[in-house]
Amino acid sequence: MDHDFIFEARQARVLFGAGRIEALAGEVDRLGAKRALILSTPQQRAQAENTVRRLGNTAIGIFDQAVMHVPIETARAARAEAKRLNADCCVAIGGGSTVGLAKAIALVTGLPIVAIPTTFAGSEMTPIWGLTEDGIKTTGRDARVLPKTVIYDPELTLTLPPAAVGTSGINAMAHSVEALYAENANPVASLMAEESLRALAVSLPKIIAQPEDLAARSEALYGAWLAGLVLGTVGVALHHKLCHTLGGSFAMPHAEIHTLILPHAAAYNAAAAPDAMARVARALGVQNAPAGLFDLAVSVGAEMALSEFGMTEADLDRAAEIALTNPYYNPRPIEKGAIRALLDDAYYGRRPDM
Ligand code: NAD
Repeated sequence: MDHDFIFEARQARVLFGAGRIEALAGEVDRLGAKRALILSTPQQRAQAENTVRRLGNTAIGIFDQAVMHVPIETARAARAEAKRLNADCCVAIGGGSTVGLAKAIALVTGLPIVAIPTTFAGSEMTPIWGLTEDGIKTTGRDARVLPKTVIYDPELTLTLPPAAVGTSGINAMAHSVEALYAENANPVASLMAEESLRALAVSLPKIIAQPEDLAARSEALYGAWLAGLVLGTVGVALHHKLCHTLGGSFAMPHAEIHTLILPHAAAYNAAAAPDAMARVARALGVQNAPAGLFDLAVSVGAEMALSEFGMTEADLDRAAEIALTNPYYNPRPIEKGAIRALLDDAYYGRRPDM
């Protein structure tokens, strides 16, 4: 094989394992922080309160208003709260929405982040921030928003309902699938991507069958960690662009949409990225990568028809138009008719069977 790549890694300190949350106070101290602002969604307020108890006097407040896609108003309110309390660190306990809010604070203040992920989204391992203003989501990369410390404790995922486990896990797999055919794919990222796909493919159905299986949750979280690392170091392509469009312009739910689009994005790129597809298929233990991704999603109970999420066929035309704007890398050229056909397959939830 003819190798040609750039590899760059900027990584957080990672603690992984059941019960690792016990190390939180020591980790905040290790950063030299004395005034930690705890962030969560309203739904995870109880976990934020537990975090305050773990930190004692080092916790100076809770901001529990994190929501999907970081609306600019929420970011401003959280920044104001960090300033009012003179915080010197943010502790984010939750999924991508909460970590995203911590990043919005760090982007303008440089405050260090300790992230405690409770889903499989992977944001905690990336320097990617996102902010939504007037219905338009802007994203960028900035080293300041990469968390300094990440504590992965699978016990914290036990409250994540099985349906969310399935889609959140496949959201992580999407990072790894696209990393295998990204413009700046590299051998290290590809090793991590393939291993993350294997770990998630084997563990997600086990969690659905037995939600309290902590070993399976640990394996899924391990796969999610690798997928987040991969997303942080390698670019993305068609799949993420489509999901960004459907989430940003049509308010479709994040993890669910990643789950139903992934098999179709993989099918679109299959002929142009045969090596990547072979690695996906190997990781999943299947013959055909796009069909295998579809079958996995069905096996974890995911809804596979875009029509069920309130989109109309007219919306598909507009989504195809938007996906064609701002040229971006993809192994197969972006062609309007083919993208519209992809969206049609996703709309009706057809299994890719090429
Ligand atoms: P989320 O953070 O929005 O969480 C979804 C819901 O599940 C919330 O109500 C949350 O409180 C709840 N929840 C989370 N963990 C729980 C648990 N263990 N038990 C019970 N409830 C729990 O969902 P997400 O899919 O993790 O994140 C999606 C967001 O993250 C999107 O905005 C996406 O764009 C962003 N994201 C960013 C990156 C990045 O690198 N910047 C990467 C992936 C995702």
